[in-house]
Amino acid sequence: MIYYDNAATTMPFKEVCEAAARTIQAFEANPSSLHRLGTQAQNSISAARRKVAAALACRDKEIIFTSCATESINTVLKGFHDAYPKSGQHIVTSAAEHKATLECCTYLEKKGAQITYLMPDADGSISTEKLVNALNAETSLITFLHVNNETGAVSDLPSIVKIRNNQCPDARIHIDAVQSFGKLPFYPSKAGIDYASFSAHKINGLKGAGAIYVNEKSRIAPLLHGGGQENSMRSGTENVQAIAGFGVAAEMSLAYLRENLERTARIRETFLRILTDKGVEFIQNSPENGSPYILNLSFPGIMPEVLLHTLEADELYISTSSACASRNARSSYVLKAMGIREEIAKYAVRLSFGADNTVEEAIRAAEMFAGALGRIPPRR
Ligand code: PLP
Repeated sequence: MIYYDNAATTMPFKEVCEAAARTIQAFEANPSSLHRLGTQAQNSISAARRKVAAALACRDKEIIFTSCATESINTVLKGFHDAYPKSGQHIVTSAAEHKATLECCTYLEKKGAQITYLMPDADGSISTEKLVNALNAETSLITFLHVNNETGAVSDLPSIVKIRNNQCPDARIHIDAVQSFGKLPFYPSKAGIDYASFSAHKINGLKGAGAIYVNEKSRIAPLLHGGGQENSMRSGTENVQAIAGFGVAAEMSLAYLRENLERTARIRETFLRILTDKGVEFIQNSPENGSPYILNLSFPGIMPEVLLHTLEADELYISTSSACASRNARSSYVLKAMGIREEIAKYAVRLSFGADNTVEEAIRAAEMFAGALGRIPPRR
C-alpha cells in the first residue's frame, strides 16, 4: 500500500500506539481524581504537555489540550471575541482558510464582527500589500493558515508579524499550524505569534487530541465550561491516551523534522520528474516554493473520483481535495480563490506525503499514475 492522504490523517507511529496503550493498560484513572491512579493520569498529561511545548519552543503553561484542531480554532476565534468584546470586532483572514476558520468567521459575523477575507495570489499566498491595505484601527485579530491544506502554499509569517507590529501593534495573530507543526520549523513564541492551533492525528498521533498555543500575554475565553480542566481553559475529562500519544508524536516529529523534510522534497521531485518523463499531461496547482508535503495536480479531462478509485484498486490512496470538503463540493473553493479556472480546478487531486513515505514508493506511485491515466478514457 502507498498512502498519500497524510493531510487528511496520518498513520499513528508505533511508539504513539505503545504510549497510548500503556496509559489504558495501567488504568490511568480520571486525571482530576486525587488518588494515585488519577495522579498517574495527570502526570501523563503533564509529560505530553512538556513534549508539545518543547517541540514549539514555548512554555508548558502556554499549551492547552483540546480534542482536535477544529475545536482549537473555534476556541481561539470565538474565545478571542468573548475575551475582548469591545475590541474583537475586525478580523482579517483569507478566503483560502480551512472551513474551521471560515465557518467560525461566518458565525462571528452574525455576532457583529466585521471580517475581511483576502484573496490569495495565483501561488496561493497572501500578498503583504493586501494585508497592509486590509488592516485598520479596529483590526483586533489576524488569522491565517501557515500551510494551506489543499495546495501546500506557505504563509510569510515574518512579514505578517512585521506588518502587524508596524500598523496594528495591539492586534493579535492566530495561525492554523495544522499542516506545518512537526513538518516545517514553527516556533510561535519566537515568531511573535499570539495563538496557534494543532492536531495530533496530522502528525502520526491519534484522533481525539489537539492543542492551542496561547502566548502567556494573550487571553481567550473558554469554549467549554465545566470542571475546570486545562487551567479552566477547556473543561471536560481529558483524553489521556490520545494526549499521551500526542506528546510522543510531537517529540518524534521534531526529532526527524529536517530528515523528513528533505526526504519529502525528494519524493515530490521524483514523482513529478517521472510523470513528466512519461509524457503525462498535468497542471501543477501547488506553488513551486510551497510545503513539499502537499502536491495538488490537475489531470485535464480525468475526473478526480475516477482516478482516485482506479488508483485505490492498486492500493495507492490519494484525495480529491481536502478530506473535509471532498464529500460536499464539486471543485475546490481554495483553488477558485487562487483564480484557477473551473475547467482546471474540477480535475484537481491532492497527494499528501508523510513521515512514512519513501522515494522508492514515489517511483512506483508515478508509474501507477501513468498506468491508471492511460486506462481512463478522458472526458473532453
Ligand atoms: N486546519 C487545517 C489546515 C486542516 O488541514 C485541518 C484538517 O484537515 C483542520 C484545521 C481541522 O483539523 P481536525 O481534523 O483536527 O479538526
